[in-house]
Amino acid sequence: MKTIGLIGGMSWESTVTYYQIINRTIEDELGGLHSAKILLYSVDFDEIERCQANNEWNKSAEILGLAAYRLQRAGADCIVICTNTMHKIAPQIARYVTVPLLHIAEATADELKKAKISKVALLGTKYTMTEDFYRGKIEEAGIEVLVPDEPDVAYINHVIYDELCRGRIYPESRDGFLDVIAKLSAAGAEGVILGCTEIGLLVGEAKTLIPLFDTTLIHARKAALFALGK
Ligand code: GLU
Repeated sequence: MKTIGLIGGMSWESTVTYYQIINRTIEDELGGLHSAKILLYSVDFDEIERCQANNEWNKSAEILGLAAYRLQRAGADCIVICTNTMHKIAPQIARYVTVPLLHIAEATADELKKAKISKVALLGTKYTMTEDFYRGKIEEAGIEVLVPDEPDVAYINHVIYDELCRGRIYPESRDGFLDVIAKLSAAGAEGVILGCTEIGLLVGEAKTLIPLFDTTLIHARKAALFALGK
């Protein structure tokens, strides 16, 4: 079994889910007492969030690139960045290592294709929803991407940073997210990408008219299967 290198802590609330899902997948695949070989480099999210807010993406690329380098030095056979947003700088981070970086949006695009989705809604941070680095990967797969309108982008971004990344799960916010999902479904979305690794903590169990594609689950499962050579 290969060793998975996780760059986590963005936020640590969702890194917990990665750890659980990777181990559950290995257990499902191999049975018995099998569990995953994982190295975790967990950052101080405050430092990373400041870089985002100050538009210092090169500085965060250096922090996460060094984390990737250290993971490889410690024996990681692949790198998994446990956040959608920081994939904005995935190409820079990948330059610090020779092992593969398992890209969250590519893994998600594969799942959407398997499900034959041609138009999908994308929920995530304002960076993920409004910039090209993420939706571009989905569009490259021939899938149309719908994002919420401006007030809803601001609302979702606020809930992610001020609530979910701090472990605060409020029923009002769940209702708010479900309203946004209903609007996007009415606009023609056939599915919804939960394109922020904490959103599943809020609506992962909710009943929705259209299927949810939880990027945390997709990415974690991809990492586990990679470790098994699948
Ligand atoms: N975990 C979130 C994501 O998947 C947001 C935190 C971050 O800015 O990295 O995008």
